[in-house]
Amino acid sequence: MMQGSERLLEAAEHSVALERDARLAAIRANLREQGEDVCVTCDEPIEAERRAAMPSAARCVECQRAYERMQQRARND
Ligand SMILES: [Zn+2]
Repeated sequence: MMQGSERLLEAAEHSVALERDARLAAIRANLREQGEDVCVTCDEPIEAERRAAMPSAARCVECQRAYERMQQRARND
């Protein structure tokens, strides 16, 4: 009996996690469709401060930094 209810609990937790993942995916897809600022590299929302400073920013600070480093290296070659 105990084992059975544990398994039920596990199944419930699993479906909650699945539901949450699906909701997150839907929110992200929605954000992209609306042209909201989600980093094109890592898919994370770009900080409000950064968006205010640079409305055209396509990447979050970290990815932008990495991108610029990459470009610099390409120029140096
Ligand atoms: Zn990023």
